[in-house]
Amino acid sequence: MSVAIRNALVVTKRGEERLDIKIAQGVIAEMGTSVGPADSELDGTNCHVLPGFVDLHAHLREPGKEDSETIETGSRAGARGGYTALVAMPNTNPAQDSVPVIEFVRLQGERAGLLEVVPSGCITVGRAGTALSPMAELARAGVQIFTDDGSGVQDPALMRRAMEYSRELGITLAQHCEVSSLTVGAVMNECSCSSDLGVPGWPALAEELMVHRDIELAKLTGARVHFLHLSTAGSVHLVRQAKALGLPITAEVTPHHLGVEMHVDPSDLSQSRIHQQVENGISVRMAVLFDLLARDGELQQLHEEVSA
Ligand SMILES: [Zn+2]
Ligand SMILES: [Zn+2]
Repeated sequence: MSVAIRNALVVTKRGEERLDIKIAQGVIAEMGTSVGPADSELDGTNCHVLPGFVDLHAHLREPGKEDSETIETGSRAGARGGYTALVAMPNTNPAQDSVPVIEFVRLQGERAGLLEVVPSGCITVGRAGTALSPMAELARAGVQIFTDDGSGVQDPALMRRAMEYSRELGITLAQHCEVSSLTVGAVMNECSCSSDLGVPGWPALAEELMVHRDIELAKLTGARVHFLHLSTAGSVHLVRQAKALGLPITAEVTPHHLGVEMHVDPSDLSQSRIHQQVENGISVRMAVLFDLLARDGELQQLHEEVSA
């Protein structure tokens, strides 16, 4: 069985080119301005063809919350969107802090058989923030990215220890940056609107303090750190400075933090609440685009996140 896609805009390392692609037995057999006939012919005139995407931040919710998502349904959604691999966040129940749970997630991904499901591991046992997970054992089982996503590691001494181990193990730590004591009960960005409405606000500082702390700890330990779903201009500024120093820091942004303007409708607060703040939409959006998406030539991952 072979398929030819004709006259598509193909995105390669060289940029965009209008090409034909022939796929035979599931493998790209030919690519050029004109390829030979195939069993099935597709007109790609109004289509882009891209390499498979990798989603570094997917909440597949299994095990524990199969009523909202399973590894199979998440795989289906990812495959439909052009993804060939998903990193499964560890805030499942039980959390992904032991080899059996990691292997279960990987196996369920293989059973679904649509793309590669790559389990992340917890930094702390049960994501409780009190004791380190068996990081070495998990790394031996193939885990390469560790995070307590859903919450940040609050204790700086514990985070420092995790960073020291991470260097030894050659793995990456990913942080959900939120000083939790600053966000108790928060439902929206802290601003004059939150005061006017009398609802608890989420200050930019809650994110930026942890970004700053972890950059300093990375400087001390040499650890590779990835910041999840950054949302404030101050965070972007800190990441830009860290990159300028040559620290192994990366960061990501979510689609809603790129596209949503600060807007509060007092008659319908439910529409105004986004998990994490949207601070000064335009400046954040421009800063993120310039610094994280474009400047380094790295595709910092846009991830879909329902919550956490
Ligand atoms: Zn998340
Ligand atoms: Zn998170």
